[in-house]
Amino acid sequence: MRLFQCPCHASLGSSFLAYAPADVGGGSRPVPTSAGAVDRAILEELAAASRILADQGVVDAFGHVSMRHPVNPNRFLMSRSLAPALVTADDIMEFDLDCEACEAKGRSGFLERFIHGEVYKQRADVNSVVHSHSQSVIPFGLVGVPMRAMFHNAAFLAEGAPVFDIREKFGATDMLVGNHQKGAELARVLGNRPVALMRAHGSVATGPSLPVAIFRAVYTEVNARLQLQATMLAAGGPIAALDAQEGPMADAVNIGSASRAWDMWKRRVGQ
Ligand SMILES: [Zn+2]
Repeated sequence: MRLFQCPCHASLGSSFLAYAPADVGGGSRPVPTSAGAVDRAILEELAAASRILADQGVVDAFGHVSMRHPVNPNRFLMSRSLAPALVTADDIMEFDLDCEACEAKGRSGFLERFIHGEVYKQRADVNSVVHSHSQSVIPFGLVGVPMRAMFHNAAFLAEGAPVFDIREKFGATDMLVGNHQKGAELARVLGNRPVALMRAHGSVATGPSLPVAIFRAVYTEVNARLQLQATMLAAGGPIAALDAQEGPMADAVNIGSASRAWDMWKRRVGQ
């Protein structure tokens, strides 16, 4: 056995040293072939996305973002296990959709990379996935109050955000999506929605592109705060959220204009 630093607590230091489970950092399956070198500018964009999530308060020491490989849809790109604010282009690894690293070079992937691989398997329309534990979203996975779209930037929530309760299929667990089965079940619950909440854990946001996935992760967190405020103001009365007809109309505008936020957020993280 070898010592390693737990990939889901990568920044917590040596007190978290432990013995490595078999599925971390490569695994026993054959090493998949690489789809080929990726343009450095794309790797830098993905690294910037990770730092943006930290800058916007969506992730802290935990959480991660990935994107589908630009050439091969059966591969995706994601940082090695590292606090999101610290990610650079050199940290980006390539995985197949079974979440095996193509060229690990001694690096460990995130324990919860199965969230990403299984969503890519089930959703051909998704090209980027964000997993976070953003704080304001957590209560909506606990109390049975559906998340609704409070304003146009969160229009993608007008169709609802299903809640993945890991306990329903897997019983008592450590709450982490650390294997294929759990990732596949989460992707099944997500269905064709942009966002799913994860009971007592966090959420998953998806998009047709990296900027849109980041946009949705950021505004899921903002929307959660607004919905809590609206609920207090409403004092039991109705909340005039976006309806099912308004949602897709506003979301189409957001997808077209996400680059404005993306460019500004990149600037803030030195990209
Ligand atoms: Zn997590």
